[in-house]
Amino acid sequence: MPNLPILLRVLDIFRIGPGPSSSHTVGPMRATRRFRERCIGLGLVPSRVEVELLGSLAATGRGHGTDRAVLAGLLGWEPETVDPDAFAGLMERLDRVPAIPWGAGYVAIRTTDVIWRRGGKRDLPHPNTLVVRAYGDRGVLLEETWCSIGGGFVRREGGENDAAPAPLSPPIAPFHDGDSLVEIGKQFGSIGAAILANEAAWERHPGEVAAGLDAVVAAFERCIARGLRSRGVLPGGLGVRRRAPELLESLEAGRVPDFWRHIALAQAYAYAVNEENAAGGLVVTAPTNGASGIFPAVLIEAMRRLGVDRAAMHRALATGAGIAMVVKTYASLSGAEVGCQGEVGTATAMAAAALTELLGGSPDAVETAAEIGLEHNLGLTCDPIRGLVQAPCIERNAMGVAKAWSAAMLALNAGGKGIVSLDKVVRVMKRTGDDMMREYKETSEGGLAVAFPEC
Ligand code: SF4
Repeated sequence: MPNLPILLRVLDIFRIGPGPSSSHTVGPMRATRRFRERCIGLGLVPSRVEVELLGSLAATGRGHGTDRAVLAGLLGWEPETVDPDAFAGLMERLDRVPAIPWGAGYVAIRTTDVIWRRGGKRDLPHPNTLVVRAYGDRGVLLEETWCSIGGGFVRREGGENDAAPAPLSPPIAPFHDGDSLVEIGKQFGSIGAAILANEAAWERHPGEVAAGLDAVVAAFERCIARGLRSRGVLPGGLGVRRRAPELLESLEAGRVPDFWRHIALAQAYAYAVNEENAAGGLVVTAPTNGASGIFPAVLIEAMRRLGVDRAAMHRALATGAGIAMVVKTYASLSGAEVGCQGEVGTATAMAAAALTELLGGSPDAVETAAEIGLEHNLGLTCDPIRGLVQAPCIERNAMGVAKAWSAAMLALNAGGKGIVSLDKVVRVMKRTGDDMMREYKETSEGGLAVAFPEC
């Protein structure tokens, strides 16, 4: 069978949306929005709408605000443009006025129309499944089953899939795995340049991709800045304090010794992003919300330190995205499917690859950096305490920064390729995820999550 090219865009990997979870917040919001559009397109005016959350969405959705996300989607709100304050106040608003605008009229909806179906049914099409139903006077008008498949991507059972919009023309630099990514990287001068060349296949008007990448970098910077100045305790009742401003303060006061300073600043950035994510702020999937701190922390610190220009920034984004595309194709970016190795592991690999390319590494060195970043996260479980994307997630991102930083250095000084390729480690990650017990895949029924049971 011929190897089919990977048809994903850079902006499929970097998506702006509200925290705390791409699979439990952004994806479900997209799914119910699509359901609303379909209903309105079919001219259906339901008397009420109900959303049933199953699998991991039911197990940890309360901590991730999945109920708020699906209701926001039913309102027609989009992750990229949602007003964070309106989003934060949505449940109170619907408790006061249980109705939402729908076409030319209104549909009754209460926050209790989101049903948490924990346990029981195990033969789900995906660990993150939701069923949306619109009711009329005589019963169900429309029912759809959606899967949130990681990184904010969704798939409707028996229907459309938003994971891969079709390109307008064949990609200029086709690749189908890590090895072929390195080869086209050599032909185009760098992996980032090759991936960017491919983006033309999706571009509807000149400058569209560059503007999208600029928006991603701006969102990274905004998120870091907001997180560095925001203090207090994160929502959810776990009592986790925001630590980004404190770490920055220690750095500015000279309390962090010199040999830690560079990495500590990038780690403060990662805290900032993941604390914003935990608070429901706007972040960028990189490749998911839970693992959204590592890539921007490394990239923005490198940009400021190395004086990187716009074109090099775009290439670095594309390099990181290229690694995530390979992982998404042969394994998964979803903690509910393969554990945290798919989220923080992939983010570490993306950041290590981008940093290596920014520092002038060859495509081989970039691949080695990504492989090291992923290899040393193999087996990492997903066990968020109380289903909140706070502990271990926030600190785990800061540690991911350290690993990415080191992986780039090791790759740049490796003196040749190692014995494990990126393709090999991605396949091992998938097998390890398949072997992992479901308790360790975003159910909050294993690991740290049960060491801190809900009171
Ligand atoms: S433990 Fe990892 S995979 Fe699980 S929610 Fe936290 S960051 Fe995501």
